[in-house]
Amino acid sequence: MPWAAILLSAAAMTAIVALRYLAASGAFAFVTARVRPGYHARLGPQIRREIGWSLASAAIYGIPAGIVAWGWQTHGWTRIYTQWDAYPLWYLPVAVMLYLLAHDTWFYWTHRLMHRPKWFRKMHAVHHASRPPTAWAAMSFHPWEAITGAVAIPALVFLIPIHVAMLGTVLLIMTVMGVTNHMGWEMFPRRLVHSKLGEWVITASHHQRHHEEYRCNYGLYFRFWDRACGTDRGLSPNA
Ligand SMILES: [Zn+2]
Ligand SMILES: [Zn+2]
Repeated sequence: MPWAAILLSAAAMTAIVALRYLAASGAFAFVTARVRPGYHARLGPQIRREIGWSLASAAIYGIPAGIVAWGWQTHGWTRIYTQWDAYPLWYLPVAVMLYLLAHDTWFYWTHRLMHRPKWFRKMHAVHHASRPPTAWAAMSFHPWEAITGAVAIPALVFLIPIHVAMLGTVLLIMTVMGVTNHMGWEMFPRRLVHSKLGEWVITASHHQRHHEEYRCNYGLYFRFWDRACGTDRGLSPNA
């Protein structure tokens, strides 16, 4: 085993995830301070904890991603492809949707399990220690919770074919939604949030309610599972 190359790949991925987090959360925290002045003004110590946990999570996310990236580059592991015509063009957006649906399903059920009292204390209390959460809480997870999140996409690339650019799109959506759903205010127009689309897609006011009431609104991208399982309590009036 070329351990040095694997280690280097894991370190590089950790750095990328950490920088991506700092850039995305930093950008939306900056916007929050402009749009809602003073909104998170007294949360300095909480924000420092959110950043600390998030950077630890970056390493936990970076390690499996780095191993898989190394295996893809050197051994052709995974079903990630680079030629645009390897699959029909209509499959490009379909793959993005399949990844989001699969990731959402994994997140919904692991998240619900982590709200069982015993597991909550061990795995998920760190994330809910943010009251209210801020843009910096996007990756603020206890290491046990971070592990459940870190394995999802690296497992999916072995199962569902995806163009490397579409995988980038999935990661972009994941990053932006992870940050914006925690920043405590709705950046989308009311018309859109209360439209037919808003009934199925999660934005800040949906996840805000999860952080307010705990036992509802468990989803990540979509409201399908929450609606099917009776755990959807609608949008927070405070976001
Ligand atoms: Zn959250
Ligand atoms: Zn939760």
